[in-house]
Amino acid sequence: MKAAPARRLRCSFCGKPDKEVGRLLAGPKVFICDACIGVCNGILEAVPATFAGWDAMSDEQLLGALKPSAATVDGTRAVLQSQVETLRRRGVSWEAIGSALGVSRQAAWERFS
Ligand SMILES: [Zn+2]
Repeated sequence: MKAAPARRLRCSFCGKPDKEVGRLLAGPKVFICDACIGVCNGILEAVPATFAGWDAMSDEQLLGALKPSAATVDGTRAVLQSQVETLRRRGVSWEAIGSALGVSRQAAWERFS
């Protein structure tokens, strides 16, 4: 009788295995790594809890929101790249990845390879 293979825990958002992330937090059937938590925090910092639209914010508030927004974009781009790289390692085609993103196979390849 063989032992069951050890199940590797992965971040449910970026797909990175537990060994490649600093910390991995668990929820009901999901996990999130510290990098993805950072992306979430960037979104929360950029958008006030009582959001009344960009026009309701002062120039200073909007200027202060630019850096967290840019960091969020960079972080989200890194998550997307990591997801695509994981799919490619599994042998998933550019056709399937492009289709899932609503772009052509060529556009997906040019963007992520
Ligand atoms: Zn993650």
